[in-house]
Amino acid sequence: MNPLPQAILIDLDDTILDSTDSSTRVWRSAAARFAHEIGRSPHEINAAIDRARDAYWSDPDRNAAGRLNLYRARIDVVRMALQELGQDHDGLAERFADDYTRRRVDAMQPFPGAIETIKHLRHKGVKLGLISNGHGPSQREKVTRFGLDRLFDAVLIEGEFGMGKPDARVFEHMLDTLGVDAQDAWMVGDNLDWEVEAPQRLGMKAIWVDWQGRGLPPDAPAEPDRIIRSLSELI
Ligand SMILES: [Mg+2]
Repeated sequence: MNPLPQAILIDLDDTILDSTDSSTRVWRSAAARFAHEIGRSPHEINAAIDRARDAYWSDPDRNAAGRLNLYRARIDVVRMALQELGQDHDGLAERFADDYTRRRVDAMQPFPGAIETIKHLRHKGVKLGLISNGHGPSQREKVTRFGLDRLFDAVLIEGEFGMGKPDARVFEHMLDTLGVDAQDAWMVGDNLDWEVEAPQRLGMKAIWVDWQGRGLPPDAPAEPDRIIRSLSELI
């Protein structure tokens, strides 16, 4: 797939930023702090939280609503877990979720080499577009905190734009903004529906970031043009 294309569109969470793993670490530390009050071991609480996160975020409707209202989503996840444990006391879910929220932003960091790779691509003259689904202010805060607004030619956030991936208009708007045809662009991201299937349908090449190293699942909606473990493999 080399040489480099005219433009590369890149996803944010679990592509540039270590989102899921850092989230898990923060849930773990919250569980340890609340274990006494919940009356269960941190291990039991972690397992219940993991099941609730999976159930919540794998449901497309809940995902669509939850990612635009993370505060509500976190309370719902904790409540699902506490109900499973039979410990859903008044206000406990809210306090647990608040504890998580206070530590969440500080815990998130870019993957090793991600920022350097983006700088290198920019230096090579590749036009760069950042496309992120999620709540406007939350995603914008991450973009600003890591200086990504200065590294990308254009940034599109679902909560600001009014629609998100996999809607074709999101990719078309970004390609228009960068002045590049779909055939001359790559999309890079960890979500097979949003960042592989949808952009390929428009004629873009799609690079799947398998950051967990799990391999392509048998029910994958499309075949990526390339699979990488981290952004730094692009250069
Ligand atoms: Mg992602």
